[in-house]
Amino acid sequence: SEALLEVKHLKKYFPVKQGLLGRTAGHVKAVDDVSITLRPGETFGLVGESGSGKSTVGRTILRLTDKTDGEVRFKGTDIHSLSAAEMRLIRPQMQLIFQDPYSALNPRIRIGDAIGEALLDHGLCTKAEVRSLVLEALEACGLSAYHIDRFPHEFSGGQRQRIGIARALILNPDLIVADEPVSALDVSIQAQIINLFSRLQQSKGLAYLFISHDLSVVEHLCTSIGVMYLGSIVETATRDELFLHPLHPYTKALLSAVPVPVPRLKRERIVLTGDIPSPANPPSGCKFHTRCPFALEVCKAEIPLLRDAGAGHLVACHLA
Ligand code: SF4
Ligand code: MG
Repeated sequence: SEALLEVKHLKKYFPVKQGLLGRTAGHVKAVDDVSITLRPGETFGLVGESGSGKSTVGRTILRLTDKTDGEVRFKGTDIHSLSAAEMRLIRPQMQLIFQDPYSALNPRIRIGDAIGEALLDHGLCTKAEVRSLVLEALEACGLSAYHIDRFPHEFSGGQRQRIGIARALILNPDLIVADEPVSALDVSIQAQIINLFSRLQQSKGLAYLFISHDLSVVEHLCTSIGVMYLGSIVETATRDELFLHPLHPYTKALLSAVPVPVPRLKRERIVLTGDIPSPANPPSGCKFHTRCPFALEVCKAEIPLLRDAGAGHLVACHLA
């Protein structure tokens, strides 16, 4: 079917200012040539360590920040070319869910009002309709009329994330960018929220761009997965292909940290050492070479290009 979201060669560079006059002394390539395709009802998982540029990809896709180069097409429209008024019309269709929904909630506003306010802001319903629509969204997220007049501090972390989801859902979006939506929650609660994402996807035909540092979190939800390192996607494939036949050493390292439910499914164990290098001063050649156990001389000199290893499985590694 037609793509809902098509991201082509997206780049987002931040200028680095230096000295008293704030001269531009270079650029941090936070997002460096990222391409993603997402169809209605699908989930693309964007995975990588903190600092890999995942959140910046999400925010640039939603045009919460400007792009440096490349294209973001939503339902065929290049959204970075829209006027502010046109963007406002399209905004409800693409929603963001944060890691910490509490930070997005005003402590003095009852959650029913917090969930309903965007509907009224966008003129999507009348004042008379808002309460029943809020109730509907709360119930779809496993909450009820009992919660509608309560304040944010009265809720647990998991419930707050349900509120965050209800707040996005009430606008009837087609795309939700979920940025680490379960990372702050206990493991048992994580599973409940992921099940909620999954149920809502099935009932509403939602597409998700699901951002996480944890491959095990995206495993059950994602149709396809892209693994990011220092601003670039180093490997992308369908979920099954990536889990069964990972090709990039970084992906293999991330998978080493995921518990294997089937013991005979033997995985190559690669334990990552060292932190992710600064995106302001990335390593030459393959940006992963400073941490890669298989690095060769060529890896320091030549940037490996993302190439097709068969059936749309793309990988950027000189060895693969
Ligand atoms: Fe490792 Fe070289 Fe492959 Fe980079 S290109 S992941 S350094 S083997
Ligand atoms: Mg982030």
